[in-house]
Amino acid sequence: MRLSQMLFVTLREDPAEAEIPSHKLLLRAGYIRRIGSGIYAYLPLMWRVLKKVSQIVREEMDATGAQECLLPQLQPADLWRESGRWDTYTQAEGIMFAMTDRQQRELGLGPTHEEVITTIAKDMIRSYRQLPLHLYQIQTKFRDEIRPRFGLMRGREFIMKDGYSFHTNEESLKKTYQDMAQAYSNMLRRSGLQFRAVDADSGAIGGSGSQEFMVLAEAGEDEVLYTEDGQYAANVEKAVSMPADVEPSPFATFEKRETPGTETIDKLCKVLKCSPTQVVKNVLYQAVYDNGITVLVLVSIRGDQDVNQVKLLNELTKLAGNYQAKTVLFLTVPDAEAQRKWAAKSLPLGYMAPDLADDYIAGSKEVNSKFLRLVDRTAVDLTNFVTGSNESGYHVVGANWDKEFPLPATVVGVRTAKKGDRAVHNPEQTLQSARGIEVGHIFQLGTKYSQAMGATYTSEQGEEMPFVMGCYGVGVSRLAQSAVEQSYDKDGIIWPVAIAPYHAIISIPNISDSQQVEVAEKLYAELNQSGIETLLDDRDERAGVKFKDADLIGIPYRIVPGRSLKSGKVEVVERATHKSQEILIDEVNSTLKQWIEAAIN
Ligand code: ATP
Ligand code: MG
Repeated sequence: MRLSQMLFVTLREDPAEAEIPSHKLLLRAGYIRRIGSGIYAYLPLMWRVLKKVSQIVREEMDATGAQECLLPQLQPADLWRESGRWDTYTQAEGIMFAMTDRQQRELGLGPTHEEVITTIAKDMIRSYRQLPLHLYQIQTKFRDEIRPRFGLMRGREFIMKDGYSFHTNEESLKKTYQDMAQAYSNMLRRSGLQFRAVDADSGAIGGSGSQEFMVLAEAGEDEVLYTEDGQYAANVEKAVSMPADVEPSPFATFEKRETPGTETIDKLCKVLKCSPTQVVKNVLYQAVYDNGITVLVLVSIRGDQDVNQVKLLNELTKLAGNYQAKTVLFLTVPDAEAQRKWAAKSLPLGYMAPDLADDYIAGSKEVNSKFLRLVDRTAVDLTNFVTGSNESGYHVVGANWDKEFPLPATVVGVRTAKKGDRAVHNPEQTLQSARGIEVGHIFQLGTKYSQAMGATYTSEQGEEMPFVMGCYGVGVSRLAQSAVEQSYDKDGIIWPVAIAPYHAIISIPNISDSQQVEVAEKLYAELNQSGIETLLDDRDERAGVKFKDADLIGIPYRIVPGRSLKSGKVEVVERATHKSQEILIDEVNSTLKQWIEAAIN
């Protein structure tokens, strides 16, 4: 491609709309253009990158025996009602774009495809002999994200590879899951990314396992905890660790103490001269179940620990049956406005005890009249502890479970693991922390969708059995941008060679120099012919402008037919290192071939 004929517009200044480096660079270098909130046009350079990433993904998927297909993006609401997700996706989470057609039928734009694929399996897979089966597609997904941001990282329209596998049993599922873990590692390695596979939360879906593939970068929205020995890595949402040891309590007898201005654990411990490990703190949450019932949740946890909301949400989902519900729609810490809707009187915030009376709740049809009391494991074994007194300005010390306070019946593990904690597999290892961008997620689904949608096959014994399923997603457009987030410098993007839009760019320093033009044209034809994807910067611009642009768009090798022409050579500059060397014109092709092959393999 000749730059003189290309839609090639670069910006000198960082666009105001962009916060992180990769987003700024992709806009500045003319790869993407914002059309609306979370909606981007992939311009010609970006589209080439996306096609390269897709091709790597496709090759790795095909190698595992998965088959590519293309499913509809317009999905009938009925399918989502069968799985029970229509209301959650269109209203509660609100992530699905929903619409009504001219016949008054409801439809959604696919945020994911479990419903569609399960329907196909239900219709077409009759016998165990047809299993296992794995179908995948590479396609645009639609999600009405609450906070679209960072360009392609969190778009409302983005490209995903999603695959779904069907099995007769868990063992077969596990095998495909392992194959996928390997395929995903291959994809990311081949795309030139530094990444880590981590244990992930499988949320309300349950299932027996899930891993995320995290590209390591400061701008990542996720926190990853891992150990140096390489034995453990998990998303903080899921991570486990050993809490610090408890310090023995200095309080031998139960008494109430005046502790004004001690709403926080820090202040309280200063005033009482105790350790936060001797405190039971009581944290209030508000959960709304899918039948509209609000439940106030009081979590008692050790003072030095924090509640992990993802873990708490999972526990509350397990308890949904107690409230005649199926799932939790919202989980929040109720602010003053939320409290006004149900609080019968003002709460002793900062001074609550585990036995905070139920009469603080003005129960109603929508609000459960009793607190759901949960205790985290870290608080269960404490003795002579400090906690609230249910009276502002006062705490109690020397308290014990089942003496002064009944131990809540439901014991849960909802503490947040954090950097510096000892690892469970080996207490000598401490957890380290890194930021990650989730580019892939693989999942053992089990029978959740097949059961809900009545998708069964006939087993060898002649029984109707629900499919055992797995699902596997890669954010193709997010992956492409995360490569930039990991690889840039002050001059612009540094594409990994495998996914660069072009391998090389020939920048003609002066287009009125006929010798320069002649050599450039010759190389341009020759390189492209031999499979080295090459751009020709034949614009009537100063050499400096062309070099800047070549650096900005991040093409791995820049070829300059300049001063060295008199000795039959051109200058070749490597983008990543700015290393420059002079190469005989006749050897440019073979040299670049070698370099590219070495970089890609
Ligand atoms: P996240 O936690 O980032 O919202 P998710 O868990 O909802 O993602 P999945 O449903 O597991 O994502 O989708 C599979 C992959 O699709 C993700 O690993 C990610 O790479 C990509 N992806 C998800 N949402 C977006 C988005 N809004 N924009 C771009 N890529 C996305
Ligand atoms: Mg995910």
